[in-house]
Amino acid sequence: EAKKRGHGGCAAFEEAMEARYLDRLKLKVDLREAVAGRALDLAYQPMFTPDGSRVESCEALTRWIHPERGSVPPPVFIQLAEELGLVTELTRLVVAQACRDCLSWPPEVAVSVNLSVLDLRGDEIVGVLTGILKETGLAPDRLHLEITESCLMADPARVQKVLHQLRAGGMTIAIDDFGTGYSSLSYLDSLPVSVIKIDRSFVHDIDEDSRHFKLLLGIVNLARALELKIVAEGVETPEQLQLLRERNCADLIQGFVFAAPMPASAVAALCTHTSQARAASGGSPSADF
Ligand code: C2E
Ligand code: MG
Ligand code: MG
Ligand code: MG
Repeated sequence: EAKKRGHGGCAAFEEAMEARYLDRLKLKVDLREAVAGRALDLAYQPMFTPDGSRVESCEALTRWIHPERGSVPPPVFIQLAEELGLVTELTRLVVAQACRDCLSWPPEVAVSVNLSVLDLRGDEIVGVLTGILKETGLAPDRLHLEITESCLMADPARVQKVLHQLRAGGMTIAIDDFGTGYSSLSYLDSLPVSVIKIDRSFVHDIDEDSRHFKLLLGIVNLARALELKIVAEGVETPEQLQLLRERNCADLIQGFVFAAPMPASAVAALCTHTSQARAASGGSPSADF
């Protein structure tokens, strides 16, 4: 019908918009099916001590391999899940599998999962997480929760309340992508947070006199003063790693320089090859959830 109006460019634009809309709609239908059919997988990326000798925790990262489109990036399908009202169901599946997989690793290794802003704004998440801990028997201090800095501000009073409940349940709270949000320092200080993960934008182009490195040093000073544990994200090169080590910028390193995301069974094997060959307890991890 747009064509009848005689604006070729405009009609083409509208058709493109419509095609995009239909494409997302189709992807949403497929995502709903994938969640219902447990067709998503988890990959785990280890966080190492800066000398690389020990894995302290692993971040669960959801993977969706679409039968026709191949791998769909997490930010894309997480947003779709949020629009579908499906994200807390997805979180529930992720956390349940992550807890089971964590039980197959050495007992000093924790697992870290990402929460959506909608998880924090809904009223189910505390019950969902404590329920899974009870069912799986994982010690609550082995479950770490990553909240991006940008989602802290969506509903500050609500987020503060929920985070205190989760902390009271024994879970550890980490602020993800730190340095990219707009949260005030006094608000941050009111939250029961024990870890910050410095966003990889501060790490990827660092050298001694880059502005990003100066910002990073500022963040590190702040975090040290508040006695927060510091994770540097997205460390890719030996040069970045060396600088972070020399200047004592991180307690843990996560990035391709040490390891890319991998299956749960590979984490178990990796811990065996580092100095963590202690007996792992129970449970055999499954490939999907
Ligand atoms: P994030 O939580 O900040 O996770 C780190 C992302 O950086 C991951 O991307 C990881 O694969 C990638 N990465 C790790 N090391 C390096 C490196 O050295 N260089 C570079 N360039 N990238 C690195 P991924 O898996 O694509 O996930 C992207 C984002 O999607 C995550 O960012 C997280 O916010 C979100 N996400 C992933 N899984 C879930 C989930 O189950 N639930 C929720 N709510 N969000 C998730
Ligand atoms: Mg994360
Ligand atoms: Mg992150
Ligand atoms: Mg990030």
